[in-house]
Amino acid sequence: MFKEQVLGLMDQAELQIEGRLKAIDRIVDRNQWKVIRAFQKHKVSDYHFAGSTGYGYNDRGREVLDLVYADVFGAEAALVRPHFVSGTHTIGTALFGVLRPGDELLMITGRPYDTLHKVIGKPGDGLGSLQDFGIRYEEVALREDGSPDYENIARRIGAGTRVIGIQRSRGYSWRPSFTVEQIAEMVRFVKEIKPDVVVFVDNCYGEFTELTEPTEVGVDLMAGSLIKNPGGGLAATGGYIAGKAKYVELASYRLTAPGIGGEVGAMLGTTRSIYQGLFLAPHLVGQAVKGSVFAASVFERLGFVTHPRWNDPRTDLIQAIRFTGPEHLIAFVQGIQQAAAVDAHVVPEPWDMPGYEHPVIMAAGTFIQGGSLELSADAPIREPYIAYMQGGLTYSHCKMGVLTALQNMIDRGLLHLEEN
Ligand SMILES: *Cc1c(COP(=O)(O)O)cnc(C)c1O
Repeated sequence: MFKEQVLGLMDQAELQIEGRLKAIDRIVDRNQWKVIRAFQKHKVSDYHFAGSTGYGYNDRGREVLDLVYADVFGAEAALVRPHFVSGTHTIGTALFGVLRPGDELLMITGRPYDTLHKVIGKPGDGLGSLQDFGIRYEEVALREDGSPDYENIARRIGAGTRVIGIQRSRGYSWRPSFTVEQIAEMVRFVKEIKPDVVVFVDNCYGEFTELTEPTEVGVDLMAGSLIKNPGGGLAATGGYIAGKAKYVELASYRLTAPGIGGEVGAMLGTTRSIYQGLFLAPHLVGQAVKGSVFAASVFERLGFVTHPRWNDPRTDLIQAIRFTGPEHLIAFVQGIQQAAAVDAHVVPEPWDMPGYEHPVIMAAGTFIQGGSLELSADAPIREPYIAYMQGGLTYSHCKMGVLTALQNMIDRGLLHLEEN
């Protein structure tokens, strides 16, 4: 059981964040209704959940699912499929769909998420990456304060710039995530310079954290993973692309083949869970965001630096916490694992993951493999010793995860709480 002081800390944190939790509930209410209204508009019914086999022709459930997603995201069209194997695959499909040899992709929010580096690739890498296909790539680093470097962006946009890339979430770097309002500002800025650019947003971890989504404020195309926010913890695999109809269509030709697009694709019994997951998503995202706010409050009370801070506005699920040494990182991540319902008996250890320069430790006791709407934590073992925590299907689980991590640190003599 938890020590008195740990429980006391929980009470203090919850008292502090009471107002924030209420504000999150208001966002959940609005998004919940938005999702339900979209289901109602398209008369979602039991027969839509049946699924299909083979080519999957005339799968009405799949067609309506696309329409529902498009409405929820305020987009013209959407492509929601279990055939996307991951967020990276989904984002790659969207980019390959709209870019052609000689075009340029300009990322304006700095270095993108790790797994996208290979998708962008290098000229002549022989992997069929974007650059291997003769698509040019440029990126504009964020400024010191984490804001877009508009001066440089204006300078970099040229005649060949076809796609402007924006990553909403911090991913696993110590920078702020971008609110939908900030994304709207970026869209206005780049379209003023070049009205025909396609603005693409990597929306991973962002869905339902705010009242609007990027496609509601002028973004042309966005993509995300169904084992993160919009899958609501139920979708077993998949991704979505949403945006202007012509770009979604181009992406669909990349997922399947030109001339086939989104009109085929057996759903193989996944349809119901994707619908039901979307229905649950606003609530579950709310639970996870509450968990992040709670974690920030607790660790700030103990003197650790957090990003975002407990009372900062939130636009994604990720909570970064900076510890003072590797022992804290390891104790934290192992504590998160110990609070899981699945695989709590497994002790995560730092390991040399392919593609990373430092050993990484990961806690992932999840029902869906790698599902990061579920409580999970990652930390590269290097200075400045930052742990990234995200998800939590229930707020209670998040709290127990944080308390277990604290208890772990205390038991290992890494943390001393005052008796009160
Ligand atoms: C998770 C994530 C991705 C990639 O998704 P995978 O499912 O891990 O391939 C890309 N961008 C961001 C911001 C993410 O959070």
